[in-house]
Amino acid sequence: MKYVGAHVSVSGGVDNAPLNAMAIGAKAFALFTKNQRQWIAKPLEPKMIASFNTNLEKSGILPKHILPHDSYLINLGNPDPEKLEQSREAFIDEIKRCDQLGLKLLNFHPGSHLVKIAKRDPEYVDKLQEAELNCLDLIAESMNVAIEATHDMDVKLVIENTAGQGTNLGYRFEHLAHLIDKVNDKSRVGVCLDTCHTFTAGYDLRTKETYQATMAEFDRIVGFEYLCGMHINDSKPKLGSRVDRHHSLGWGELGWDTFGFIMNDPRMDDIPLVLETIDESIWAEEITALYNLIEA
Ligand SMILES: [Zn+2]
Ligand SMILES: [Zn+2]
Repeated sequence: MKYVGAHVSVSGGVDNAPLNAMAIGAKAFALFTKNQRQWIAKPLEPKMIASFNTNLEKSGILPKHILPHDSYLINLGNPDPEKLEQSREAFIDEIKRCDQLGLKLLNFHPGSHLVKIAKRDPEYVDKLQEAELNCLDLIAESMNVAIEATHDMDVKLVIENTAGQGTNLGYRFEHLAHLIDKVNDKSRVGVCLDTCHTFTAGYDLRTKETYQATMAEFDRIVGFEYLCGMHINDSKPKLGSRVDRHHSLGWGELGWDTFGFIMNDPRMDDIPLVLETIDESIWAEEITALYNLIEA
């Protein structure tokens, strides 16, 4: 079974998310459990939690098909110790908020190394590699710290692959594997593949052959047992452009074939498949279109 939905609004309260998902015929959804552009959020009130649970029950959507996304401000690989501490605290708070809502997953972007290296520097390649490795180790340490601080909770930290824009890490499957390898409690870690990010990071998904090759590489390096969700987006930029710009399904460089491969791939059963496409007024149509791709 496929569970398709979208990253829905929490305007007016997180308890609106299940209702917003229901309104577009979603069987899964993503949400922010706090304002994603602010560091501090007031704690979730018991009344709000109860209302979330009531609405979730109405929607019939299960916690395992909900993929909360953390704040964009958090950088678990920030080389500045003070800013790193701030990120870790905010991340731990995000895990606790998920736990309070009965949710089991927390999707996050690994982090950015923020090191400026001039392209004309003769040691550019070495310095870049060093900055990336140091940052990956720092992110893994942050994940271990967060897991330790929430050891009594069963929320999985779901690493999203990125387009590799700027100094963002997570654009190679090897980066995801590196993080998983360094996390002590593997039961607390998962992965989310974003189709736009995968493609613009340089992994093709447009034909049956390239799709199978990319997924085989993912399985070899990371392993499908870690796949906890996907973001279903078409891509404005071209293959390997390392730019993160989503597009509505069928309007970008990927096209419908890619989404057909996913909808007919049993490895994507029973995980949230979440739209982050740019025109939310057509999400209901996109969800229906995705289900219609399933071959009998
Ligand atoms: Zn995404
Ligand atoms: Zn993106």
